[in-house]
Amino acid sequence: MDVPFLELKPAYLELKSEFDAAYHRVMESGWYLLGAEVKAFESEYAAYCETDHCVGVANGLEAIKLALLAADVGPGDEVVVPAHTFIATWLAVSSVGATIVPVEPDPVTLNIDTDLIAPVITSKTKAIIPVHLYGQPAHMAPIMEIAVEHDLVVIEDAAQAQGATYKGRRVGSLGHLAAHSFYPGKNLGAFADGGAVTTSDPGLAERVRMLGNYGSRQKYNHEIVGTNSRLSELQAAFLRVRLSVLDQWNDRRREQAAQYTRELAACANIALPQPRTDTNPVWHLYVIQTDHRDELQKHLSDSGIGTVIHYPIPCHRSGAYRELGFNEFPITENISKRCLSLPIGPHARDPVKVANMIIRFQPGNAASV
Ligand SMILES: *Cc1c(COP(=O)(O)O)cnc(C)c1O
Repeated sequence: MDVPFLELKPAYLELKSEFDAAYHRVMESGWYLLGAEVKAFESEYAAYCETDHCVGVANGLEAIKLALLAADVGPGDEVVVPAHTFIATWLAVSSVGATIVPVEPDPVTLNIDTDLIAPVITSKTKAIIPVHLYGQPAHMAPIMEIAVEHDLVVIEDAAQAQGATYKGRRVGSLGHLAAHSFYPGKNLGAFADGGAVTTSDPGLAERVRMLGNYGSRQKYNHEIVGTNSRLSELQAAFLRVRLSVLDQWNDRRREQAAQYTRELAACANIALPQPRTDTNPVWHLYVIQTDHRDELQKHLSDSGIGTVIHYPIPCHRSGAYRELGFNEFPITENISKRCLSLPIGPHARDPVKVANMIIRFQPGNAASV
């Protein structure tokens, strides 16, 4: 591939001496879990997210799951989630035994359609999980209003949106709790799995911390039924390096997104991303939509340009959830047939070249271009 969809090694190479120093610092310390690096990262990341607390956990899925458990969500409770999201949002709800209540996206922003939330609220509804999909913050104001009215807990799924803001405030600080993923490909990526929960509620923070550490505050005193879900010292040390450049690297993504938007503006058959104007997205993904998606993807691949579909099979159509027999979600299904993610990232190459190949694309004529 001349233009791969994503390369992770350049992130290491750009800051090699800092990552290598972090590695040696942790290895030489002789302390590999629940130590100074995690503590320092937690306080730095809480400050960055404009929250009082951050708790490192094993990955993003567990971050959502532990947030749900901390909020006492379990069997018999209903949880509102976007129909259009990465399946981890749904799996977290399943893992605590609660009932998934999917809501279609707004066809413009592709984030959860907040007008459709109130109609699905019942006496069993306990939580809402808005997802800041593709790095674009969800419309949180009406979600928080509904939550206040019905006494619900709101857990942001911020896995794709580290550093994004909504009405001037950072994601991670907008709900009661927020889940973050440090999967290597995310905007704030580690070099293995990692995750965190942010919150400004000290009681919830303490519960997440206990739940992820065998239900204990003090070693061998297990007050509640917990699990093992912890961020490693090594990954925390790497994340501190990544956090120091997060704004700068997000700005590179913003610049590339602006290039795509400028270059592709005249393409009649291609719908471009339209984030809300009261947000500052971080462009985890730049997702276009077209009726000729598969043909366009092949055309780009033949030209050495990597693209990915996020996501080809909607959650409700996947084997994992087919038996629940959800009704059709036509907007979600339509997006899954039309969406295509273009290369973007702090080390992505040449958005203008990618845009030019898209401009040259003629449907029905892909092989000859
Ligand atoms: C990546 C992702 C997750 C899960 O994070 P992991 O660290 O891979 O477990 C959850 N939700 C969304 C929207 C994601 O993109």
